[in-house]
Amino acid sequence: MASTSSASRLMVLLAAAAAMVLVVLQASTVSAASLPSGLPDPDDLKPLLSHNPWSAFQNLSGCHFGDERQGLGKLKDYLSHFGYLPTPPPSNDSKFNDMFDADMEQAIRTYQQNFGLDVTGQLDPSTVTKMMSPRCGVADIINGTSTMAKSASIHGRNLYSYFPGSPSWPRSKKSLKYAITATSATTIDRATLSQVFARAFARWSEATTLNFTETTDAAGDADITIGFHGGEHGDGEAFDGPLGTLAHAFSPTDGRFHLDAAEAWVAGGDVSRAKADDAVDLESVAVHEIGHLLGLGHSAVEGAIMYPTITSRTRKVDLASDDVVGIQSLYGGNPNFKGVTPSTPTSSREMDSGAAAGALSRARSGFFAGVAMAAGLALALSW
Ligand SMILES: [Zn+2]
Ligand SMILES: [Zn+2]
Repeated sequence: MASTSSASRLMVLLAAAAAMVLVVLQASTVSAASLPSGLPDPDDLKPLLSHNPWSAFQNLSGCHFGDERQGLGKLKDYLSHFGYLPTPPPSNDSKFNDMFDADMEQAIRTYQQNFGLDVTGQLDPSTVTKMMSPRCGVADIINGTSTMAKSASIHGRNLYSYFPGSPSWPRSKKSLKYAITATSATTIDRATLSQVFARAFARWSEATTLNFTETTDAAGDADITIGFHGGEHGDGEAFDGPLGTLAHAFSPTDGRFHLDAAEAWVAGGDVSRAKADDAVDLESVAVHEIGHLLGLGHSAVEGAIMYPTITSRTRKVDLASDDVVGIQSLYGGNPNFKGVTPSTPTSSREMDSGAAAGALSRARSGFFAGVAMAAGLALALSW
């Protein structure tokens, strides 16, 4: 018994030490604000468990090949929507069953590869947490072609992608006009919207030879139309209320960019201090969707604007080198572009000061968790 007791003390010691290492890691990477993959941030989890169309996925944590559990069919819908599974066969009422089959296992492996997670083929907690995260509605795999490179673990490699066939705006067309068309479903005032979208477009024009101007003549000369919509809105890509899918945009030269009107959009100020847990920064999502409007698909680089998920109450508006190389390959570079802040492409979230404040508060909460673990360590030692 004595050996068992000392072994369990050792385990507690090791766990406490690991927690302290995590705290140090968090505190020392405030500017990068990136947690090691597989360790969900408790602050990030909170909104995911309340108003979130995908919160039921948490009940599937631990499921693996051969399991049958209620809700797995819904997760197959999710995997199908984002391109990881084909649509269900019409013979089956067009509904997926709740069996964790080989196709599902392979789909989860591909998903894990794309998001830099441990490739287990199982619904481990870090995979389920990632799947519950708010994200862009554009699929990661389109017509069987993964828009996210399969080697997300290779550091320093560019992982940007294009839509199948690499559609882009014609090389001769350097000036694009956008119109903000559907605003009745949002309470954000028109002037603020104009400012937010102008700043978001500027991120891309700084790096390229493209330029963007707002027009009020949506029916006439607008190349791009931007609008807020709720639920079904006529393109077969229904929105799903707070969190879940935030927005989507179509590849060139379609020009449609739709935002889910039900999100708790923040259009100004410091989103990391927003009262609502599910607050989403409008400008951050706009910068991402404009990438799609210009022809970029999703990137497996977590710090890239074109990474598919975003954490609520987080601002992420600076192009990463991955985004810049991708867009410049399509349209050429702006000779006056100063370049991105040097960073490690796979670990940095390219955050600005506003987001760093949120990261700091997270680092602080990590610190308190560390204090609690240290208290646990003291208890363990006094057995
Ligand atoms: Zn997207
Ligand atoms: Zn739409």
